[in-house]
Amino acid sequence: MSDEGNLDRDEVAAALRGTGLVEGLEELPQGALVIARDATIAWCNSAALSLLRYEHREELLGRPLSELAAATALDDAAWQAQWERLLAGDVWLGEIETRTADGERGMLRVGRSPLRDREGNVFAVLSLASDPSEEFRAKAALMASEERLRALFQHSSDIAMVFRRSGRIIFVSPSVERVVGWRPADLIGKNGWDFLHPDDVAADMAEVEAALAAGRPITREWRMRRPDGTYAWFEQTLTDLSHVPAIGGVVGNFRDVTERHLADAARRESEVILRRVIEETSEAFLGIDRFGYVTEWNPAAERIFGWAASEAIGSELAKLILPEHDRQSFRRMFEEVVKGGASHLLQQPFEMTAESRSGRALPVEVSVVQVTVGQSSHFRAFMRDISDRKAIEERLAHQALTDALTGLPNRVLLRDRLARAVSRLSRREGSVAVMFLDIDRFKLVNDGLGHDAGDEMLVEIASRLHRAVRDTDTVARYGGDEFVIVAEDSGGLEEVRALAERILEIVSQPLVVAERQLRPRVSIGISLTLGGSPAPDDLVRDADIAMYRAKERGGHRAEVFEAVMESRAIVRFELERDLAQAVAASNRRRENDPAGTLRIHYQPIVSFDGPILGVEALVRWEHPRYGLMSPLEFIPLAEETGLIVPLGQFVLEESVRQVAEWRRTVSPDLSLSVNVSAHQLDGRDLAALVESVLAETGLEPDALCLELTESALLRDSGNGADTLGDLRRLGVRFAVDDFGTGYSSLVYLRRFPVQLVKLDRSFVSGVPTSPQDAAIVSAVIDLAHALGMAAVAEGIETSEQRAALASLGCELGQGYLWSRPLPGDEITALLEAGSELGSTPAALS
Ligand code: C2E
Ligand code: MG
Ligand code: MG
Repeated sequence: MSDEGNLDRDEVAAALRGTGLVEGLEELPQGALVIARDATIAWCNSAALSLLRYEHREELLGRPLSELAAATALDDAAWQAQWERLLAGDVWLGEIETRTADGERGMLRVGRSPLRDREGNVFAVLSLASDPSEEFRAKAALMASEERLRALFQHSSDIAMVFRRSGRIIFVSPSVERVVGWRPADLIGKNGWDFLHPDDVAADMAEVEAALAAGRPITREWRMRRPDGTYAWFEQTLTDLSHVPAIGGVVGNFRDVTERHLADAARRESEVILRRVIEETSEAFLGIDRFGYVTEWNPAAERIFGWAASEAIGSELAKLILPEHDRQSFRRMFEEVVKGGASHLLQQPFEMTAESRSGRALPVEVSVVQVTVGQSSHFRAFMRDISDRKAIEERLAHQALTDALTGLPNRVLLRDRLARAVSRLSRREGSVAVMFLDIDRFKLVNDGLGHDAGDEMLVEIASRLHRAVRDTDTVARYGGDEFVIVAEDSGGLEEVRALAERILEIVSQPLVVAERQLRPRVSIGISLTLGGSPAPDDLVRDADIAMYRAKERGGHRAEVFEAVMESRAIVRFELERDLAQAVAASNRRRENDPAGTLRIHYQPIVSFDGPILGVEALVRWEHPRYGLMSPLEFIPLAEETGLIVPLGQFVLEESVRQVAEWRRTVSPDLSLSVNVSAHQLDGRDLAALVESVLAETGLEPDALCLELTESALLRDSGNGADTLGDLRRLGVRFAVDDFGTGYSSLVYLRRFPVQLVKLDRSFVSGVPTSPQDAAIVSAVIDLAHALGMAAVAEGIETSEQRAALASLGCELGQGYLWSRPLPGDEITALLEAGSELGSTPAALS
């Protein structure tokens, strides 16, 4: 210590520490310097360093104070006087232009005051300096933050409250009204607990009070009553700030969490539901981590795959549900998905074949969801066992491709097989043969012996065909009684013909259906690829055309397609189209249709001694190109296409009208015979038609005779029989037409209401010369008479035939001998001339 009482820098610093001031000064925002009596700097705080822009305290300590001033505003004497006053105990306030370490100047506001030791002696001077511009900024910032705070209180959805420890509310922020509905005035002075849900008060009051008493803030969720009596959820943090004079109570910060509560409740509920669903669903639900290991495995997964959850969880999925040889590719695919590829697998369900624990193949439908949290993802998968569906699909596919009756491939599968065979041709040498088969006179079996018999025959023929061909060939049922065989590499034409012959032979082996022995016969059309690869449909069509040719030539034979056949088929197609048009035009009584019109010719049926008893209506088609066509040319076509029904209607209406007119004008007892085809007996429309035609024209029912063939009559099951019954009840009569060409059993025919038997021309013409024919005709006539039926001989052309038949007891005839079938007006003339036709064939002349 120096004798003048001057302390050096260290001594000042030590003295300073004794005052306990150092810590406080260090905290100050202002720069603080402690200056020794010799006016050098003894200590400084960090704020002073940064204010003066020094880095280290050492740079500042020991410097004369005067060096910090930019220029000596005061002369040395004035400065000395000022310093002396400070040391004497004065305080100085003012602004000083200062120079910082980096040489800049700036005004600082400075306050200086003496520092005294315990004895009251001034041992140093404290100088506190601040930058006024900084100060201003700080103030402005403070004001702004206060403003912000106010606005925050105003607009915040948080509510601040201050309570006494008793619970009495002494302050509440205005936002309370917007958030809960109470005005601050409603609350202030009331006890806060009274606004809470009683359950919450009971549960929490003690704990809250304990926390506050211990000075711990506490956060709780409470329900606060709204004015309307409902409750809102709040999260509230309470802090006891009773000791802070400005507050003087417990501060509560309230935040409305009702929405969150509702959402939480809903989420909890849906989680519970989801869990239940996952537990109880019949679909396997799996969690899979990004390495392909199972993290979740529900009861359905246990059932489906056979692994318990405890075994599955933690195992690699591929090992659990895939056969060894599929695992590697599955792993690759899985990796791909994890990397963000193969996204189609995530977008829609896909099917795959898994394997159960026991090694059973399991078709499953899989839906995968990727769950990404931050960088990593995992997966959830639903897997549905679709074994049942697959089985049904397979069965359906099989059904769609095979014929139910015979089990053979159907038309669809045939087309596919044929297309494959043809496309193979384009790649190598070889040939494809197509055979189109149609059973001869199948209708007779179906109509005569019933559909069951027909089915039986189809099944047997199918199996015979199957046996006749090689395993590599396809036998398909094409429809009805049609079959198609596709034979690949069956050699050339000769080999194919040989195969066809073999088929004819095998198929026609005796067969018993419905207690009858039959020899099924088929007609076969053949088409063969001869180089190139023709369209499969064309091959079938050509074979079909060739098959028609085989039928035309009498059936039970095979024909190979030739180009000329095609033109015939085209003619047939045109005819079919024209006939439809002609029938429609005739029914609408439109003459001169471009497709031609139907007309009716009438042929007299006479008593051998002369008088015309009746006429048979015989339809004609006047075709614009082919001229007047015989029914033999188009009736079969009409029957096949169903056109026979409208055609029959036209004939019936037109001829009944005509005969009714003749009966009114020239020939009161004239009867009418109309041919009816078996198709017209299907459905019950025919009886209704006949009834209405008779009613419209006034023709007596017994003047109408319907001519039916044996096979039509034999359709004694189903609608046919009903129609016959209906017709008989109307009082019309029936004739058996063309007798002798079918099953030829009159005894059998006894069951039917037949009044007339028409002996077929094939017998009649032979009567004069063939004793056998004469014997048959004689027997038939006798039996017919015995059964109460009349007999008409068809196609009598000569007087010898008439005489021979007359001698056998026949008294009715029809034939060119008396008259050809003639148009209506010529018959009118004939009838007017006198209803007797002499033995001279007048109409022939
Ligand atoms: P059908 O009912 O046996 O008719 C008798 C056929 O014998 C007629 O042939 C007739 O012109 C012919 N004919 C008559 N007398 C003689 C003769 O002395 N010598 C020869 N050679 N032939 C004779 P058409 O008119 O060609 O009719 C053929 C068959 O067409 C008919 O045979 C009948 O089964 C069928 N038909 C004709 N019109 C119709 C019809 O409107 N509906 C139905 N479903 N079939 C009809
Ligand atoms: Mg007839
Ligand atoms: Mg006939």
